[in-house]
Amino acid sequence: MASRPRFAWINGRVVPYGDAAVPIDDRGLQFGESLYEVIPVTVGEPRLLGEHVARMEQGAAELGLGPGVPKLPEWKAILTELVAREGARDALFYAQVTGGAAPREFAPAGTVARTFFAYLSPFVFPGDAEVVRGIRAVSLPDIRWGRRDLKTTMLLAAVLAKKHAQSRGASEAILVGSNGEVYEGASSNVCMVEGRTLLTPAQTTNLLPGTMRGLVGEVAREAGLDVRGEPFGVERLRRADEVLVTSTSQLVMPVVSLDEANVGDGKVGPIGRDLARRLRQRFGLEA
Ligand code: PMP
Repeated sequence: MASRPRFAWINGRVVPYGDAAVPIDDRGLQFGESLYEVIPVTVGEPRLLGEHVARMEQGAAELGLGPGVPKLPEWKAILTELVAREGARDALFYAQVTGGAAPREFAPAGTVARTFFAYLSPFVFPGDAEVVRGIRAVSLPDIRWGRRDLKTTMLLAAVLAKKHAQSRGASEAILVGSNGEVYEGASSNVCMVEGRTLLTPAQTTNLLPGTMRGLVGEVAREAGLDVRGEPFGVERLRRADEVLVTSTSQLVMPVVSLDEANVGDGKVGPIGRDLARRLRQRFGLEA
């Protein structure tokens, strides 16, 4: 579990965490005009940093937030400073850019200075013991907006889905489009194993281009699996040999039950366990 950080980076400087604040008319707060990233830090090193920064840059270009996003060398400097100050080894780095503070107008007249802030929370990544327990998931209709490929902070639908999952003894909700296609988890990507094939929904505006999804594809190929991106429905997911979710905080996590029914025999399968181990090795979390 993440614990509270001691410092934050906001608009160019480090301050005690409790002193970091945005005005109440910040456009991220009032309109959801904001993007975020969560970056894994393991053994004191940021992982997949280039991918995360590129994703925020692409989203920011679409939303007009580009000038607020630091360039890669600055991310590195911020990370180095916060890792040192927090004395962090394994942690999650949270970064957010918003449209900045301005009198409340949907389309502001002038240029508004964007807000960028970040902080580092110590974090324990799941190891083999957590992976062999797996997680439970429920399927739910996806009620989010039409640009799910952008990592905006408009997370209310995901919050409601997670709360619903929790109320049914599950920790993830698998979101299904009105066309019957499985898109992704409320805070993860979904993939499934059929024989020696790892299948994940093809990238569209319906789902986030997950950084861990990309890396899992890479290690799966390394493990000799055939990796494919194509649409599939929830009934096919129910019949899969293994169902996995991927995300920065969960790495690869097997789903052992879906809508209160076992996936496979209800035990974590060999492929998910192996991919999780390979990821931990990539990140220096395991020899
Ligand atoms: N989809 C959604 C909706 C998410 O919130 C996340 C994690 N923030 C992911 C996928 C996984 O993305 P990543 O692997 O980059 O953490």
